[in-house]
Amino acid sequence: MEKITSLAKRRGFVFQSSEIYGGQNGAWDYGPMGVELKNRIAQAWWKEMTQLHDDIVGLDAAILMHPRTWEASGHVENFTDPLVDCKKCKSRFRADQIPEENLAAKKCPDCGGELTDTRKFNLMFKTHIGPAEDSASIIYLRPETAQGIYVNYKNIIQSNRMKIPFGIAQIGKAFRNEIVTKNFIFRTCEFEQMEMQFFVKPGTDEEWFGEWRKRRWAYYEKLGVKMDHLRWHQHGPGELAHYAKDAYDIEYLFPMGWRELEGVHNRSDYDLGRHTQYSGKDLQYIDQDNSAERYIPYIIETSAGLTRNLLMILCDAYDEEQVADKGNDDDWRTVLRFHPSLAPVTVAVLPLMKKDGLAELAQDIRKELKEDFATDYDQGGAIGRRYRRQDEAGTPFCVTIDYESKDNGSVTLRFRDSMEQVRVNRTELAARLRKEIREYKRTK
Ligand code: ATP
Repeated sequence: MEKITSLAKRRGFVFQSSEIYGGQNGAWDYGPMGVELKNRIAQAWWKEMTQLHDDIVGLDAAILMHPRTWEASGHVENFTDPLVDCKKCKSRFRADQIPEENLAAKKCPDCGGELTDTRKFNLMFKTHIGPAEDSASIIYLRPETAQGIYVNYKNIIQSNRMKIPFGIAQIGKAFRNEIVTKNFIFRTCEFEQMEMQFFVKPGTDEEWFGEWRKRRWAYYEKLGVKMDHLRWHQHGPGELAHYAKDAYDIEYLFPMGWRELEGVHNRSDYDLGRHTQYSGKDLQYIDQDNSAERYIPYIIETSAGLTRNLLMILCDAYDEEQVADKGNDDDWRTVLRFHPSLAPVTVAVLPLMKKDGLAELAQDIRKELKEDFATDYDQGGAIGRRYRRQDEAGTPFCVTIDYESKDNGSVTLRFRDSMEQVRVNRTELAARLRKEIREYKRTK
């Protein structure tokens, strides 16, 4: 993880928030490469969930919601972590994440000092809206995007004439006052979620739950993620959230071990039932095709962290490879093997030399590619070194312009993963790149 954190900083993926002031715990900034990668992961998810599914529509709800929302959802009462402190070294732990013997003996796992009693700690950030700081002005930063979907479910049925089964997808920020934030961007206080809530008829929920587990697994396969680094974890009775009838996590083998990447939950009719009760509004679905039958839909949720997905994609792509380069066989390269559709830069254009009009020709070719691809241009230093820089940034294709390019319009197309090079005519370059992206299969 240290290597990934340092590469992420060096190449402008992720910076510590407010670093010049010593950093802000639990918050990170996404640099020029990071914001591109994050946007592409979000786009891939959005396309998968909306464009490829006729029965799912999108939503962008506000972060600030009526405070009753969080009473109805159960967050005010239940969204807590058990917290213990060490009286000696002042370390703070989640009681469910330290060895049971330490908890029983009230002994700090770090220094052996005495631990406090366990107390419940609510993870929601609370602030005030308006000038008065009293209990009537309390408002929360949403700890999940899901509730914005539930409170809009009737609006969307009416405005878009949705019929059950259907889904609503949303990507947005969520905030949790996490007790322990470590492992880089894995668990942060401010993060982004990609959630889809699928509304189904009670009785069909188990079938849809199975279906969505299959679809989410296939999604990661399509992204080219190492499938032996993914596994399912079913929540046991003690692990199930207050709303869940059944829950499975997709876990990824991060450098610190297997950890949750995404949850697929059968939330039953808990959410809409509670919002009916707290809002006093009738949230039943009326099935016009079935003698106006009324019921509260069950909800199947797929809930993934966008920023956690970004960390997974970085870890999954990271590779160090020994390459026999120009007879020098102890040369190593660091390479990020991103799927080309996720890579922050798709194609880098590199003139072999700055002189003799090669730089101008390269700029001209870059201009042509810009409309369709995310491009970079680099004319400084030896070509081998420039390839290495692009490998480290995860750029899947480099296009090199040399003297032959001037003569016959051909360029060298170099592939990041295999380091193979082929000659392609400039006029066929864009089509060739599109084909390579579409047909990409990860080999290493
Ligand atoms: P955990 O048990 O790890 O705290 P959770 O089960 O509470 O997580 P969910 O509420 O199911 O997580 O959230 C859905 C997804 O949102 C998670 O799978 C994860 O990808 C992401 N997520 C949740 N909390 C955080 C966080 N603090 N930082 C980054 N991503 C998060």
